[in-house]
Amino acid sequence: MSHYGILKAINPRSNGEVIVVEPILISGAGPVGLSLALALTSRGIPVVVLERRPIAGWEFRATTFHPPTLEMFHRWGILGRLDELGCRTRVLQYWDRSRRALIAEFDYNQLSDVTDFPFCLQCSQHLVVRELYDALQKSGLADVRLGTEIVDFNNDGGVEVIVESHGQSAAIKGAVLCAADGRDSFVRRRLEIAFEGEVYAEPLLLIGTTIEMGDFFRGMKDVSHIIDTHQWVIVTALGNETRMIFGLEPGANPVQAQTNEAIKMRVAALLGREADYCIQHRAVHTVHRKIATRFAEKYVALLGDAAHLLSPVLGSGLNCGIHDADAYADAIVSFTKGSGDITALHSAAERRREKTAHQVQNRAHAEYLRLSEIKLNEPSITDIARTPALARKHLLRTSLMADRG
Ligand SMILES: Cc1cc2nc3c(=O)[nH]c(=O)nc-3n(C[C@H](O)[C@H](O)[C@H](O)COP(=O)(O)OP(=O)(O)OC[C@H]3O[C@@H](n4cnc5c(N)ncnc54)[C@H](O)[C@@H]3O)c2cc1C
Repeated sequence: MSHYGILKAINPRSNGEVIVVEPILISGAGPVGLSLALALTSRGIPVVVLERRPIAGWEFRATTFHPPTLEMFHRWGILGRLDELGCRTRVLQYWDRSRRALIAEFDYNQLSDVTDFPFCLQCSQHLVVRELYDALQKSGLADVRLGTEIVDFNNDGGVEVIVESHGQSAAIKGAVLCAADGRDSFVRRRLEIAFEGEVYAEPLLLIGTTIEMGDFFRGMKDVSHIIDTHQWVIVTALGNETRMIFGLEPGANPVQAQTNEAIKMRVAALLGREADYCIQHRAVHTVHRKIATRFAEKYVALLGDAAHLLSPVLGSGLNCGIHDADAYADAIVSFTKGSGDITALHSAAERRREKTAHQVQNRAHAEYLRLSEIKLNEPSITDIARTPALARKHLLRTSLMADRG
């Protein structure tokens, strides 16, 4: 076993004093791990990112980025580029599928007094990963090691991880290990932290198509939640693509659901007639609602899908992971450059767990129930949209800004 040399950064402070900082280790170069890496390097903290695959995250999953996340992208210097690559959502609509009728509409401009970015950005997850990765390469403080898997670690008085890369083992030391290693997180399992919650009975079918939805649902804009007891749909306009997420029947066969024939039938039933279009990509996903019973232990903290899984109905899973990253970066700055007290990270982890469980996870589940027309203990979406105070509260909650109300 060899020892990698520890990457150390020498940061001049404004008073000319020079400090040496041990790197923060991050497992996983998915969008959350790379967000944390950029949040830290933009604050002058060196990072080593360890990714078992030969490339950084390439998935076509998330597209929706909410206003608070855009504020973070702005601070890290990548919002301008993402804005060029994606498109802005200014309106959120709700439709009744059986009547093909628009039943509620919310304008993000209502939030212009609480954010500089009163819109959602639609940009494919893999493009966000690419921009994060490029920005990290330019930072001079990031060592991103692809094809490098964490297989073990020690967690006493700092961390030491054991990695395997191209058949060789090595040990790497760091101040803290942040685990953004996805829903089957090795780090979470190794710490024996329970992942509590449920798996939804209905899998999701995700397809990218060239359909012009306005030809079939007159007045349909940006993002539309189409409510139905049997088969709800979320439609998102991505500029060059219309993305559709269908809630499938419980126990649906994922292979059969992805055949051309099955997709064409499903789409024709939604549109009310046959249409001519291309299917650009397709996937079936199982949907979870889970949360780790704790997000931190000694010098290790969990974030992103490693810590929580949310229904994609709200487009919040990745956003929440990026918010974890921003909160952890602040705590890590105070730990490495100030107090040296790891409890700042523990407190940040606990606050993120509380917020995710009580604000985001509950709201994502409520929106899932609303789509399936399961009665909620709140007014109908039409009544919410018609009442200004309720409409604003709804937009704040679905935009992950409930606390700015
Ligand atoms: C259909 C669908 C639509 C969605 N839409 C949205 C949306 O619009 N908005 C939103 O906010 N969220 C959305 N989500 C959720 C979002 O996709 C996830 O929350 C996000 O991908 C999680 O990112 P992550 O970086 O935490 O994990 P991942 O993307 O899973 O990355 C984890 C990384 O860790 C690496 N890794 C694992 N183990 C190790 C190890 N031992 N050593 C080194 N590396 C390791 C993996 O290879 C991987 O690259 C959606 C999800 C689905 C299924």
